[in-house]
Amino acid sequence: GEPLLQVRNLKKFFGGGDAVVKAVNDLTFDIYRGETLGFVGESGCGKSTAGRTILRLYDATEGEVLFNGTDLQKLSPRQLKETRKEIQMIFQDPYASLNPRMTVGDIIGEPLDIHGLAKGEQRKERIQQLLQLVGLNPEHMSRFPHEFSGGQRQRIGIARALAVEPSFIICDEPISALDVSIQAQVVNLLKDLQDKMGLTYLFIAHDLSMVKHISDRVAVMYLGKMVELADSEALYSDPLHPYTEALLSAIPIPDPAIERERERIMLKGDVPSPINPPSGCPFRERCPKVMDICSEVVPKWQEVKSGHFTACHLYEEQK
Ligand code: SF4
Ligand code: MG
Repeated sequence: GEPLLQVRNLKKFFGGGDAVVKAVNDLTFDIYRGETLGFVGESGCGKSTAGRTILRLYDATEGEVLFNGTDLQKLSPRQLKETRKEIQMIFQDPYASLNPRMTVGDIIGEPLDIHGLAKGEQRKERIQQLLQLVGLNPEHMSRFPHEFSGGQRQRIGIARALAVEPSFIICDEPISALDVSIQAQVVNLLKDLQDKMGLTYLFIAHDLSMVKHISDRVAVMYLGKMVELADSEALYSDPLHPYTEALLSAIPIPDPAIERERERIMLKGDVPSPINPPSGCPFRERCPKVMDICSEVVPKWQEVKSGHFTACHLYEEQK
């Protein structure tokens, strides 16, 4: 496929002096038109910050984000507003992200107002269409968010994101706060909408099982860095990085036909602070396969097999 988004050496640091938090520390990857790229990692690994930096809700500390070949960091405020129509975000918490004092119609209509896209009767029709598109009753546009269930509120958030007809949506843990029984419905809705509208997704989640059914490719993040990126199938069946192996070992395998025994790999300790990350490989203090070189040299981000990237000394070519 053709890349819609090209991220190059993206860094986002917070703070200064001795307390620099390297939240996003040198990400390089593409997102192809029409695909879903899953972004997985424990909380604090930088996945949400990466999403917000791509959207330019945060200015990058370093690096480039090319959207349709245009560097988002270099856009004027007016150009950025135009481009914002193309890139929308769906948030984790459908309770916190909807204004409780606004009707659902006004919540969904707000982006139409901001971008001057529809007024009066046309606006109302568009809002009703959007409600229908996400499986809600168009008659309910004058209700308030508290009158809806968690899953329905997430549908409202999705309708709002779709109002401006974006091509790319960053879904920041859109199902993490929902009941398990509702999660699959929201994932299926997102998939349907993708097919109907040709959408491209960056789908952020904290656990590999959540991105499995929606992602074409999956990236695993650890401490502000990407440690592995591959086609979903390759990542789940043949993980390379010891951290990915550990995350996968925590997912129960529902299919007994899978012969390979997966033993649960328990990781020592917690994710280290991004203020003072370990030297060398950021995962080395917890890695079951750590070697001497791992504390000395930062492993390079390399394409080890076709389309399968990782950063780990186990796979680096001998020089
Ligand atoms: Fe483990 Fe070393 Fe690979 Fe890091 S580089 S994941 S410490 S083997
Ligand atoms: Mg987050």
